[in-house]
Amino acid sequence: MTERFPEAARVAARFASPLCLWMALGWFAYPTMVQLLGAAAGESINFAELVTFSLVAGVTFVVLAAVLGAFAFTEAPARQPPQKIACMHCGAQMPEESRACPHCRKDIPW
Ligand SMILES: [Zn+2]
Repeated sequence: MTERFPEAARVAARFASPLCLWMALGWFAYPTMVQLLGAAAGESINFAELVTFSLVAGVTFVVLAAVLGAFAFTEAPARQPPQKIACMHCGAQMPEESRACPHCRKDIPW
């Protein structure tokens, strides 16, 4: 049976999660850089709109990094092999939840 998320997706998320944090830092720093560059160039900029957009983009990338990081750095739950027990009548191995032995057909009392 195939896993729901292949291991390659976890490896890709391990690279993408730090990159999303880097993008968030860039968006948080963007208004400051634009302000500095605009002042140096003598340009007037709609600064409130720029700050709002940068904050939304930065928070979005922080959330994305957190989701990807949670996916990438948590292990997939290990599959437990089905537990087998021995039949009390013939000793044959059978699934734990069996109510009757598939070998000797006798009922199992538990
Ligand atoms: Zn049996």
